[in-house]
Amino acid sequence: MTSNRELDTSSPVLVTGAGGFIGGWLVRSLRQQGFSDIRAVDIKPQTQWHQVFDGVENVTADLQLLENCRSAMRGRKHVFNLAADMGGMGFIEQNKALCMLSVLINTHLLEAAREESVERFFFASSACVYNASKQDVTDVIPLREEDAYPAMPEDGYGWEKLFGERIVRHFDEDFGIQGRVARYHNVYGPHGTWDGGREKAPAALARKVALAKLTGNHSIQIWGDGEQTRSFTYIDDAIFGTEALFWSDFNQPLNVGSEEMVSINQMVDMLEEISGIKLTREYQLDAPKGVRGRNSDNSLTRQELNWSPTTPLKEGLRETFDWISRQVC
Ligand code: NAD
Repeated sequence: MTSNRELDTSSPVLVTGAGGFIGGWLVRSLRQQGFSDIRAVDIKPQTQWHQVFDGVENVTADLQLLENCRSAMRGRKHVFNLAADMGGMGFIEQNKALCMLSVLINTHLLEAAREESVERFFFASSACVYNASKQDVTDVIPLREEDAYPAMPEDGYGWEKLFGERIVRHFDEDFGIQGRVARYHNVYGPHGTWDGGREKAPAALARKVALAKLTGNHSIQIWGDGEQTRSFTYIDDAIFGTEALFWSDFNQPLNVGSEEMVSINQMVDMLEEISGIKLTREYQLDAPKGVRGRNSDNSLTRQELNWSPTTPLKEGLRETFDWISRQVC
């Protein structure tokens, strides 16, 4: 890591989107490290948070509103913004306006952070910022940070993330709020959304396979021809990378993603092995598919953080499948 300074665990921290998947795991990790003053905010009622922790100030508030951002920011020094109206490809392709409205969350949080003289601000960006023309084949060249420009991100969601990155950069340059930006690549694991339309491919497929095992109907539907490729980042790696980046001195966008690229069909092969059942695959060629291929190039991440994700997909999928199997039964 660039900086190995001693963590000040008495520092007042804000985690937004704390009722969500990554936010919940981040709060857990901060608590485990001894952070004693954590404010966790999400728009959802707490009964719907994926994880809720004692000893944390848990708040329900809509952070698209500036006044709520001001209240959330009061007395904070370190901020992790993970709040966004988002989901898997099925959600973001059909809800571009809603995705873009998350611009209000990040913008109002930054404005409140400036008023509160916050020291450091993390923004959860995405591999969806990358130029689509660099992702149109399955054996894609892994994406380096510079491949976000010239800009041609995922419509809606990706544009909002790219704008978010830029505004964080300019609040850093103009107002001295140290910006940290992770570009997550398909984060998955237990305690995330696994049904309802916002789930992402690993959770959706794990659910379908778990249900196939439970019901004995071994036919599953796959979006597209299954040859589209991605890399998938286990939640433990995503959290480690988030914290390593946050406490580092690096203030440019950085990939936080696995370099283990697989096709969706290969991921289904793994789920067959994990579940012990053989599946019949039905391909839905008109379903949302996203780009044809995507992988992370972690050269810069290794250089800046002396780290890169280590969890093999098969291992992380097993944990995810076991957890989702317990939810569906
Ligand atoms: P998530 O949907 O589980 O968590 C996001 C949380 O933000 C939700 O709990 C939601 O209720 C909350 N939220 C939405 N609107 C809000 C508002 N107006 N005020 C307060 N809270 C609000 O998603 P996640 O997977 O945990 O993602 C966290 C962040 O990481 C998001 O910014 C997402 O875009 C980004 N990201 C995630 C992935 C991934 O693979 N999971 C990939 C790239 C980027």
